[in-house]
Amino acid sequence: MRKRIFAMLTALVMLLSLVPAAMASTVEVTAVTGTGTAKGFGGDVTVTMTLVDGEIAYVEMEGSGETAGIGGNIINEWPEAFVNANGIVDTYTGATFAQITRAGVLEAARAALENAGVNPDDYLREAGQEAAEDVTLDADIVIVGAGGAGMTAAIVAADAGKRVVVLESQPAVGGNSVKSTGGMNAAKTVYQDKNEFGEAAGVDKTLAAAEAYADNEFIANSASVVKSQWESWQANPEGYFDSVQLFALDTMIGGKGINDPELVKTLVNESSSAIDWLQTVGIDLNNVAAFGGASVKRIHRPVDENGKVVSVGAYIVPRLEAAMKERENITLCLDTTATEILTNEAGAAVGVKAEGKTGNTVTVNAQAVILATGGFGANLDMVVQYKPDLDGFMTTNASGIQGQGILMAEALGAATVDMEQIQIHPTVQADTASLITEGLRGDGAVLINANGERFIDEWCPPPKSPSPAPSPGWWWIRRWWTLPPSFRATSPAA
Ligand SMILES: Cc1cc2nc3c(=O)[nH]c(=O)nc-3n(C[C@H](O)[C@H](O)[C@H](O)COP(=O)(O)OP(=O)(O)OC[C@H]3O[C@@H](n4cnc5c(N)ncnc54)[C@H](O)[C@@H]3O)c2cc1C
Repeated sequence: MRKRIFAMLTALVMLLSLVPAAMASTVEVTAVTGTGTAKGFGGDVTVTMTLVDGEIAYVEMEGSGETAGIGGNIINEWPEAFVNANGIVDTYTGATFAQITRAGVLEAARAALENAGVNPDDYLREAGQEAAEDVTLDADIVIVGAGGAGMTAAIVAADAGKRVVVLESQPAVGGNSVKSTGGMNAAKTVYQDKNEFGEAAGVDKTLAAAEAYADNEFIANSASVVKSQWESWQANPEGYFDSVQLFALDTMIGGKGINDPELVKTLVNESSSAIDWLQTVGIDLNNVAAFGGASVKRIHRPVDENGKVVSVGAYIVPRLEAAMKERENITLCLDTTATEILTNEAGAAVGVKAEGKTGNTVTVNAQAVILATGGFGANLDMVVQYKPDLDGFMTTNASGIQGQGILMAEALGAATVDMEQIQIHPTVQADTASLITEGLRGDGAVLINANGERFIDEWCPPPKSPSPAPSPGWWWIRRWWTLPPSFRATSPAA
């Protein structure tokens, strides 16, 4: 990833080229260049700055290891900000991950100025504080939140001919979606059929687990359908075995039977067409693998040009953003935090009131409002309010995931359900709150405690029979390549 901004110097060179040769020697310009390097998130980041007569005229940033859509935004956006501000200006307030890139770029920028022979302290600038004007926008649909859901809704609505305004509280799009590492579950896709089926033990295990839920009508019905699908497939194995009912069964058992069946049906029935739709905007999730909570290979992942699996969110988000930007009937407002859903006398939602970066008011009048503000995982007060035992937990969520959409809807009398159902992930890097993807366990890693003992079924603790308590201490992850998937799926916790 590399970004150059070459503002004043370009103008100056053009000016010089217009000066007659005889006069050129009378124009004196002092240009100095310095380069600085520091550690970023995925390797070194390098900043080069050229000052012309003491003013920053040219900035180049390089950080090939920085994640697209996260730290990569800093590499892309800051050169222009530095040139415009004639100094180092820290405009980033976004995702936790980007803090490492941000610190690296700031350090490298200071070093670049020092190496150019100037005092970096003279070039520290505050992010622009001038209050922008209040604005009112009109749209057919206003969408709050530019994560995966919001951007997808915007593209679909725009393609249906609607004028769309998308409000995003953060300086960049992506929310939690850009942090997703593992992939996207979908059943009965063409990509699954490209795999050899070796997950019989996984299916048998799920059918056995379903027996503990005989009193749950949806689970019992799904299990009965899966049983006959499984028998038919075994009699005549064609393609890769999976079904929306097996996906539903896995989801219900993973949720210990308390999931809302209607929501589960939407998830599983629409999963394959979601993969197809993504393809229409250039997003190809063609690699399928085993993952926690799935009886069979069902997680769909992107691969890079070398065939290497890459993080799903960092792959999807820039492509959705590009698809939005291609559509002229979508207006994206970053750094704009919705604070209130506007309603008419009949109580219908007719727009949104928001606050711009400088505290100015942004009002969007629309015929419909879509709330796509995600969850509330980064609002630890709200987390503890709904689940007190999570006091002291860290979050892997993006900083914009504050539950504001939920609060705005509640202010209009909306009800909430299952708020205490908060996903806790067993593998996270404790010092950076970075998630260690389930994919690692899917590929065969095992969890061991501080005593080096394996203590849990890494894929899914058996429902209704608690696993032995882990020994105190941190959970470690060890890669166990030699186990075939069928063994992994059935191996008891040991
Ligand atoms: C570390 C991590 C890894 C994950 N891995 C996976 C995975 O592998 N597979 C998977 O299926 N799921 C995964 N998930 C879950 C997945 O990321 C989420 O379910 C999904 O991203 C939700 O998408 P969304 O668009 O609803 O919300 P988000 O992507 O979170 O987007 C919500 C957006 O709304 C914005 N917003 C919030 N409030 C306001 C406001 N008041 N005004 C304006 N904008 C606002 C936020 O800033 C954000 O950009 C993971 C989650 C995390 C945190």
